[in-house]
Amino acid sequence: MVGKLARWLRVLGFDVAYSNKYEDDEIIRIAEAENRVILTRDTGLDARPGQAQCILIESGDHEDQIQQVLRKFGLKEFDMFSRCLECNTSLQKVDKEAVFEKVPPYVYLTQERFAVCPSCDRVYWHGTHADEMLKRLRLS
Ligand SMILES: [Zn+2]
Repeated sequence: MVGKLARWLRVLGFDVAYSNKYEDDEIIRIAEAENRVILTRDTGLDARPGQAQCILIESGDHEDQIQQVLRKFGLKEFDMFSRCLECNTSLQKVDKEAVFEKVPPYVYLTQERFAVCPSCDRVYWHGTHADEMLKRLRLS
């Protein structure tokens, strides 16, 4: 329910643990152990007593969801493309030449800044999709 929100928060550089396989008890345990805030659309989970802070995400639209989270925490500083969207690991910046064989030719020709995930080996670049999203969110 909040998978897109999780990915976009990672795009913005935030440390986000996410799995649609977690049970409620596991979510609460991880949040308490790792001092995380729970973001959920599940009113049942929101109502559970516990030490972890829980934010009930109001909208079903991921752009509204991002706005709600940024507003709630007053987040205005972003470290774009510093985190793997798939596994949440911090990315390492690499020279363009290092990704020559790992990205499509068009991307290689049109992009200058690249980073790789040391955990799952995915390659990232700051593409137009991200720029458009930032404009829509009025973050850039
Ligand atoms: Zn990764």
